[in-house]
Amino acid sequence: MTAEEILKEHKLKKTVCRKCIIDKLMQSDDTALTENEIKDAFLDLFDRVTFYRSLKTLEEAKVIHRIVLNNTTVKYALSSQLVLSKIHPHFHCIYCDKVTCLDSSLLDRSLNLPSGYQVESVQILLEGICPDCQKK
Ligand SMILES: [Zn+2]
Ligand SMILES: [Zn+2]
Repeated sequence: MTAEEILKEHKLKKTVCRKCIIDKLMQSDDTALTENEIKDAFLDLFDRVTFYRSLKTLEEAKVIHRIVLNNTTVKYALSSQLVLSKIHPHFHCIYCDKVTCLDSSLLDRSLNLPSGYQVESVQILLEGICPDCQKK
């Protein structure tokens, strides 16, 4: 799937900035990136306002999703076909700081909540050592 197709599927207008953000996240595979890492890829192409507005639009349309680390660092990842479910865990490598989306099938179990509670979002962050760092 190309960035254009993703925008079309979410009924979003194609803008250069939106396309650049999606392209950048696609290149990074399932690794999440910080705002700066995305922005640095096309530093002088857009002003900050355009960039943040595009980021917000993509997040609201659920093209991308945010991952909050230790309440301070925010990273973004593409909500790809691989990660079909809204609810999927993330893996944070404590050595290289890489954050990866994991398959939602790992959580193949429904949450047994007391009646009256409705879940809107779930953050599951697993921390440890990624495959790359274990090879080192
Ligand atoms: Zn690592
Ligand atoms: Zn994710």
